[in-house]
Amino acid sequence: MSESNQPIALVTGGSRGIGKAIALALANLGVSVAVNYRERAEEAASVVEAIHRNGGRAVASAADVSVASSVQSMIATIEAQLGSIDILVNNAGIAITRGLDDITEDDFDRTIAVNLKSAFLCTQAVLPHMRARRWGRVINISSIGARIGARSISVAYGAAKAGIEGLTRAYALRLAPDGVTVNAVAPGLIDTEMGKPLIDAGIAAHIPVGRVGTGDDIAQTVLLLVQNGFITGQTLAVNGGSLFS
Ligand code: NDP
Repeated sequence: MSESNQPIALVTGGSRGIGKAIALALANLGVSVAVNYRERAEEAASVVEAIHRNGGRAVASAADVSVASSVQSMIATIEAQLGSIDILVNNAGIAITRGLDDITEDDFDRTIAVNLKSAFLCTQAVLPHMRARRWGRVINISSIGARIGARSISVAYGAAKAGIEGLTRAYALRLAPDGVTVNAVAPGLIDTEMGKPLIDAGIAAHIPVGRVGTGDDIAQTVLLLVQNGFITGQTLAVNGGSLFS
């Protein structure tokens, strides 16, 4: 934990959608939160204001998490503002919807960089502090698309999310002796901007529990993983029964 004994979290892509719900839930638990975003500064600022209104500590942190130098300067700024990071939630992601014939090399590279490489960059940047204090939590947001192929999103998305799950297990094995757990959460269809095209296409009708998921469904799972030190290397599926893993 941080020196003030109030843990400090970084939520990448915390300005809206699932990341916003995670940032707010962590703040409710008494965690100080860095709310990362790429370009929507106003939305990140409103998450930070909501946390401040509730008496919590939070800062907005602009950075493209797919770029190493941006990640390094973001982490340095957060350390100066809040302290060293105890809890990392690698949530930022993009879902390019081009099909088999239209996907480009650039789409593929960008998807892997934002959805997979970013988790490596952010994890590497926070690990020295977590290992030194022998406590840390890394939670990677995967997707049901890692296993079902997600026909309506590019093939790169399924590859990146399957990669996230492998990265999770590889880090978990190496970091368990240091008191750092590393897990993934694999959401099914969630009501966010990213999920909207699928919701509009009527996918919700096929979800066994009879509803689309919410950011809070995922945030609750993240809190479980923050509070439990005996779960590591796992991918928890949170998908309303869409896939039994
Ligand atoms: P949204 O599109 O609603 O939000 C994406 C967030 O990621 C925004 O905060 C955005 O910042 C940020 N972001 C995107 N690219 C970057 C980048 N390069 N650097 C920093 N931040 C970035 O997505 P969701 O909330 O729906 O998704 C969150 C995660 O959950 C993703 O990893 C997604 O793949 C996964 N997921 C989502 C599902 C769904 O149905 N919604 C299902 C399964 C998994 P900004 O606001 O500045 O653009």
